[in-house]
Amino acid sequence: MTDPATVLAEALPEGLGGYAAGTYLTGRGSVIEVRYPATGELLTTWRDIGAEGAIAAVDAAAAAVRPWQEAGPFGRAEALRRLAVLIRESAARLATLETATAGKPLRDTRVEVARAAEFFDYYAGWADKITGQTLPVPGPWLTYTRRVPYGVIGLLTPWNAPLFTAAWNAAAALACGNTVVLKPSEFTPATTLVLARLAEEAGLPPGALSVACGLGETVGQALVADPRVRKVAFIGSVATGRAVATAAASRGVPALLELGGKSANIVFADADLDTAVNGVLAAIFAGAGQSCVAGSRLLVEAEVHDEFVAEVVRRAALLKVGDPLDPDVEIGPIANARQYSRVCELVEQALSEGAVRVSVPGARDLASGGFWVEPTVLDRVSPDNAVARTEVFGPVLAVSTFTDEADAIRQANDTDFGLAGAVWTSSVERAHRVADAVRAGTFWINAYKTIHVAAPFGGFGDSGWGRSSGPDVLGEYTQAKAVWVPTSPYVAPFPSLRAH
Ligand code: NAD
Repeated sequence: MTDPATVLAEALPEGLGGYAAGTYLTGRGSVIEVRYPATGELLTTWRDIGAEGAIAAVDAAAAAVRPWQEAGPFGRAEALRRLAVLIRESAARLATLETATAGKPLRDTRVEVARAAEFFDYYAGWADKITGQTLPVPGPWLTYTRRVPYGVIGLLTPWNAPLFTAAWNAAAALACGNTVVLKPSEFTPATTLVLARLAEEAGLPPGALSVACGLGETVGQALVADPRVRKVAFIGSVATGRAVATAAASRGVPALLELGGKSANIVFADADLDTAVNGVLAAIFAGAGQSCVAGSRLLVEAEVHDEFVAEVVRRAALLKVGDPLDPDVEIGPIANARQYSRVCELVEQALSEGAVRVSVPGARDLASGGFWVEPTVLDRVSPDNAVARTEVFGPVLAVSTFTDEADAIRQANDTDFGLAGAVWTSSVERAHRVADAVRAGTFWINAYKTIHVAAPFGGFGDSGWGRSSGPDVLGEYTQAKAVWVPTSPYVAPFPSLRAH
């Protein structure tokens, strides 16, 4: 079996820190540990690069703005396509590195690396198609718009899908002509550092994709406060997202927020229940529930509740839980000790508030010392139970019943979040009614979790604002400039000047 410490040492012999314009930035701040989530084994330690490291990364990204804009749309497209090729060539190494540090099963990280390459390909395709408009206006004018990039974008990412979330927004921001300073989660900086090296190898100007690693309160805050950062994109929790957006707004800079969710998976009695059970399991247990779109609330029609929940539990026991570096494993551990404690506390709180744990049978041979939470099904969850309202971000399914369509919609919308959701039914009419009525940025009918870079993604309510994929994102990373040209001799508005 692959040894995670060796994987990390081989991928990044210089250690962890920052990377800007061909230079590794080492820090002198707090010591940060990297542990293998499956066993808790300490893989390495490194030091926060602090505010001065963040500033050095912004220096490099700011210096790269001009050459990157001078590369022009076709030059940028070519470089981003080369980056996609290099990611594919490094796919096996990147996936193993991601699994070793984030604990996500190899079968998932392989997909995420392939998606990262796809993001760069997709936005390379857009780079030379970002156009303005010619606008009819009254009078003798040719008026047209151009889409202008911001300059340096500060991009802060979480630990649950480090390379995926980094590539997702960086690809679009770069294609639009911006440069990017990435601040990965302190728990999982490794693959983001490799990405920055590959970007330079692909021919992006040195510094165009810089990385600043460290804690949120040091590196993250310094990045958001830097006057050269003209827009902030944040992917993470609601509380931090609000703090980051407030800090950005305090100096007049916009923020794109991709935050958490508490998405409802609604199952009607008339659904293909066999397929729906698999959909419910995939929605909550993939990635051990550490997914922003996790279907963490199951709302099931009362008349089929007992048989449906029994089947969910029976099949949950079939899922292959184990060492994430084993390519057959489907569910790994929680990614870090902090999150592990949070999940355990929320389950205890839910039980104390009246939820009933339905035990998933089958003893599993899991490594001791790791951050393991077994697939957990909590039934009879009342609307005010903590587990019905709070994002757990773990393999914990909260089950409630509903009586009819109106009740299902009311319960689905009884949340501050609005990221995703799904309905399972054989009625076409009902499917579209429910899809229309549930407040969520992404909604599936008789399916769950499929997303693609070609379609917009983002949240309503506490789940954030702005959109992070599809063509919509081009408006996030550029601003319109209107240019006015008179098509007959210019006449000043002062009559006294007309004779001169
Ligand atoms: P988090 O909010 O703790 O951290 C996110 C990033 O912000 C990290 O890089 C962190 O170091 C940094 N940060 C923390 N405090 C900061 C501060 N004061 N100033 C600047 N930066 C700061 O989130 P997390 O625990 O890493 O990630 C889990 C969350 O991410 C979940 O809520 C999940 O739903 C969300 N998420 C959302 C999406 C989406 O697209 N909507 C995708 C993935 C994850």
